Amino acid sequence: MCDFLAVGAGFSGAVIARSLANAGHTVSVVDSRLHIAGNCHTERDPQSGVMVHRYGPHIFHTDNEQVWDYLNQFTTFMPYTNRVKTTSGGKVYSLPINLLTINQFFGKAMSPAEAQSFIEEQADLSIEDPQTFEEQALRFVGKDLYEAFFKGYTQKQWGCSPTQLPASILKRLPVRFNYDDNYFFHKYQGMPRDGYTAIVERILDHPNISVRLGTQFSRAQVKDYDHVFYSGPIDGYFDYDLGRLGYRTLDFREIRTEGDFQGCAVMNYGDESVPYTRIAEHKHFSPWEQHDKTICFEEHSRACEEGEIPYYPIRLTEEQAMLRDYVDKARREAGVSFVGRLGTYRYLDMDVTIAEALEASERFLTLREQRETI
Ligand code: FAD
Ligand code: UDP
Repeated sequence: MCDFLAVGAGFSGAVIARSLANAGHTVSVVDSRLHIAGNCHTERDPQSGVMVHRYGPHIFHTDNEQVWDYLNQFTTFMPYTNRVKTTSGGKVYSLPINLLTINQFFGKAMSPAEAQSFIEEQADLSIEDPQTFEEQALRFVGKDLYEAFFKGYTQKQWGCSPTQLPASILKRLPVRFNYDDNYFFHKYQGMPRDGYTAIVERILDHPNISVRLGTQFSRAQVKDYDHVFYSGPIDGYFDYDLGRLGYRTLDFREIRTEGDFQGCAVMNYGDESVPYTRIAEHKHFSPWEQHDKTICFEEHSRACEEGEIPYYPIRLTEEQAMLRDYVDKARREAGVSFVGRLGTYRYLDMDVTIAEALEASERFLTLREQRETI
């Protein structure tokens, strides 16, 4: 019998399990899927030999030194810079919006200062405190760039109008007035040489950890453990008794060919008339490997149905009250900590997920030690 249970073998569950195991406790990790690593799962495609990110492209990026050092114990990161392209109105542009995008789109040759004042003229300055995605876009890039690159893509990705989504989703993306097309700002960025699943496998490789795959957790099991760390959907834990929070999932349409299909790892599609949001060509995520064949996936976003494991929490502005009620219930639930992207219903990148998992286990162990010494 184990002391603790971690529900979910993604980064949240694995990192917590390892911290508890290092402190001498036994931990059982369960996942309803038949593999570890959650949505970060990678595997080699047998036909092409390409390392495929099964649930969509994952690029590691962080400013957090502790998380970077932590992961480097379990893998070698290869240099990788995320440079995304987007197709809109039959033309290809550079993303995130940078000086090249602005000059290409408006057919100009502006300097950084000229582009900045030009975009300020496009911006809707009457929006003082943007709350929604659309307000944020109109305030910072103006109507033309918003409609070309964000409006259709976001409608497809989230299945609702950008007027119903929080501004925070767009705040993930920079706007630059130079030619820097690095998608991320962070100090560290890279791709694990042998994929993400190999990292999680090594994190879980500890004599105090046992892993059971294809195993569904339910609330009734909480009493069997000293404490449970739950990284599944927060509303699912409570059997949706306050209603269902919105999640998106992705369908992938596979494209296989020889050579190079699109010349880059990620090509976004801004037009609403194109049914998919982006195409990822996975061999470009491992540029240090050579493969004659190629495998790509169109990403078709849709609402997550009952029984499916979600990809993205939506956080519709109108769902905030229900979310608050679930969070209150979660805080009152004895013997359980809610962690990770689904357990806290937040749009967390891998680095934040890992940082929070390390903090959660540290906090838990400290409190426990204090309780035992009183
Ligand atoms: P998950 O990886 O979702 O793991 C939760 C696990 O719990 C799942 O395996 C699930 O099967 C299991 N589970 C749920 N309920 C139960 C239950 N009742 N019983 C048993 N098991 C259960 N982050 C980045 O930093 N960079 C990126 O480029 C990036 N790209 C992304 C692209 C996509 C398409 C998606 C969806 C996410 C992306 N992310 C990215 C975010 C990244 O996937 C998350 O930060 C990370 O997966 C969160 O880990 P987690 O362990 O909290 O959750
Ligand atoms: N987005 C968009 N057009 C793009 C890229 C992104 O409208 O070409 C929007 C979309 O709503 C997306 C959000 O910006 O969800 C954040 O983008 P990011 O690339 O961070 O999304 P991810 O796929 O990593 O979740």
